[in-house]
Amino acid sequence: MKPPEYFLFDLDNTLYDRRCGLFAAVDARINRYLEEFVGIPTAELDWRRRAYWQAHGTTLNGLMIHHGVEPLHYLDYVHDVDLSLYLAADPELGRLLARLPGKKYIFSNASRKHCRRVLERLGVAEFFAGCFTIEYFSFRPKPDPAIYRELLAEIGGRPAAGVMVDDLPVNLEPAAALGLTTFLLAPEAAAPQPAGFSGPRRISQLAELLEIG
Ligand SMILES: [Mg+2]
Repeated sequence: MKPPEYFLFDLDNTLYDRRCGLFAAVDARINRYLEEFVGIPTAELDWRRRAYWQAHGTTLNGLMIHHGVEPLHYLDYVHDVDLSLYLAADPELGRLLARLPGKKYIFSNASRKHCRRVLERLGVAEFFAGCFTIEYFSFRPKPDPAIYRELLAEIGGRPAAGVMVDDLPVNLEPAAALGLTTFLLAPEAAAPQPAGFSGPRRISQLAELLEIG
């Protein structure tokens, strides 16, 4: 492809390695929120979260619809972790972002505050032209196809000129359907893609994006 005009990056488990444990810490706080503020019994946490995620895209959307949860209260609580325990400055990521062509945006189901804190902790905030977080789309999450169209309209992005990177295949499907080039970040997936594979291209690290231009 021609050099991309813009990149849409997922944040959690994409800009940092999931093995650092940050997302697991947020996950534990989601469970605590469900128990303490919503009153869901411990034994029901797993299947309730899975049911909300499958039906509504995020646990938050299920909680808003079924329990009247106030979204900012939930987001502040679940993201209230000490980032210094999990993340350090990542100058290598900064050098990569500086070398990639075009504008870079964050496209995340997390909160604006969480995105800003993570980018600042990694030391890469300056490389992003904007953050499209869950608040921006009135708490509609990826993979709702409507928000992908709204995002492209907002940035004036031509689908064929754009790249999206995410660690969840389901989040890439609407982008691919619009015509963006999609990359699945899958650090543990060593298996090559079969011939004729039509899904997202798999990369094991973000540095492989330098080879697409
Ligand atoms: Mg992610």
